[in-house]
Amino acid sequence: MSGEKILIVEDERAVARGLEYGLTAEGFSVLWARTGNEALALTRNEAPHLIVLDIRLPDISGFDVCRTLRSEGKRQPILMLTARDEEVDKILGLELGADDYLVKPYSLRELVSRIRALLRRTYGDLAMPTADARRLAFGAVEVDLERMLVTRRGQITELTPIEFRLLRHLVSQPARPASREQLIEAIWGYDSDLGNDRTVDVHMRHLRQKLEDDPSDPRWLVTVRGVGYKFEP
Ligand code: CA
Repeated sequence: MSGEKILIVEDERAVARGLEYGLTAEGFSVLWARTGNEALALTRNEAPHLIVLDIRLPDISGFDVCRTLRSEGKRQPILMLTARDEEVDKILGLELGADDYLVKPYSLRELVSRIRALLRRTYGDLAMPTADARRLAFGAVEVDLERMLVTRRGQITELTPIEFRLLRHLVSQPARPASREQLIEAIWGYDSDLGNDRTVDVHMRHLRQKLEDDPSDPRWLVTVRGVGYKFEP
């Protein structure tokens, strides 16, 4: 896997240049946006595989960029860069649709390893099972694993990339419980700061709200006491 298009959104020229140099040397093809609005335009026009998004930008914030892209149905993995602890809390608010984050200062090596992990998780495991295993239905929900499309009562249900990966992992092993640790590994890999028991529970709650008829008494995405969760077909 190489040559993926990475969009760097960073207003500081020197930082952006350094990233561009480092990522190009790793075999990526790099786009650069200096502002949030440029980032939105480049994402719409160039469809990068992944976005490295600084939070502090001169026009709109990285948070706004992230939220806008997700509301437009853009599903590229987004890795947020932050300089401040209080921004981490906001990223962890989880409503933004960011897939991972790094706190400055970070090393290029760490950034590259996060990028590779996100790309692998997003695109690598799409080459999934056999044709008939790529679509499934439960209750009023239909899941098309290949097109990353979920509908409920015929209406498209917007899932964040993380919610989608969580769902995909659970439905790919029906009736088999997955521990929170296994889910963290499947969704973020071990090296992410985002994956912990609490974040798994929060994403699970969101997923139930979107897919279950009665989210407080789930029929399909059930809790396995003392273990974690499972998909009950
Ligand atoms: Ca900045």
